[in-house]
Amino acid sequence: MIKVDNLHKSYGKLDVLKGINTSIKEGEVVAVIGPSGSGKSTFLRCLNLLEQPTEGQIWIKESNITDNKTNIMKVREHVGMVFQHFHLFPHKTVLDNLTYAPMKVKGLSKQEAQKQGRELLKKVGLADKEKQYPNKLSGGQKQRVAIARALAMNPDVMLFDEPTSALDPEMVKEVLAVMKDLVHTGMTMVIVTHEMGFAREVADRILFLDGGNLVEDAPPSEFFSSPKSKRAQDFLEKVL
Ligand code: ADP
Ligand code: MG
Repeated sequence: MIKVDNLHKSYGKLDVLKGINTSIKEGEVVAVIGPSGSGKSTFLRCLNLLEQPTEGQIWIKESNITDNKTNIMKVREHVGMVFQHFHLFPHKTVLDNLTYAPMKVKGLSKQEAQKQGRELLKKVGLADKEKQYPNKLSGGQKQRVAIARALAMNPDVMLFDEPTSALDPEMVKEVLAVMKDLVHTGMTMVIVTHEMGFAREVADRILFLDGGNLVEDAPPSEFFSSPKSKRAQDFLEKVL
């Protein structure tokens, strides 16, 4: 589903990603972990071209998204993204948040888009909130709307950048539960997270980034019980 080949990203003189190589199969759930500033968000943002790689190539399905001829908007249609701070449209109702892109980008009729939007709201447990505006929702509810909105584009891949980091502790569970449901549908997911328990439970693989390098790429059973690198050992000692 995704292939990343020698991915570099620099901001001016700052080398943030220093040659990442990995691939992710269809239906795989990959958790990306590592210290703050290690390049996790940059890596994720390169996967849907929110950041333009400096060097290297990324394929999603059969298309080389780093090819100049690739239509970035087309790529983003197939790659859903959920951010730490929700990024909902504040002046649109919950349902309108879910129908906007499918109507505008995919050409769904209002009726089709609303039908789909309501089904998705039901899935994330917010069927009764369709007429609310985002500022009336809790953080956990906002994030569930954001997930539903991304799913409304029927993406091939879902990217999550610390989806629970901005939430009060009591709301983390409801968002992780929605993500777990999504795992069970077979969605391909790349999740940057500090929720080690969640990563261990749902991920097929852990990618550990440190200083812009992919230091470990291993199943959770291996990574958490016997990390190979000193850097991963030190990191786990701090967070577990
Ligand atoms: P993480 O998500 O692992 O905390 P990031 O990918 O956000 O790490 O950032 C990695 C490094 O790149 C940091 O040093 C950060 O300051 C820098 N960085 C991120 N985005 C930009 C940007 N748009 N311009 C300049 N530097 C950036
Ligand atoms: Mg980050």
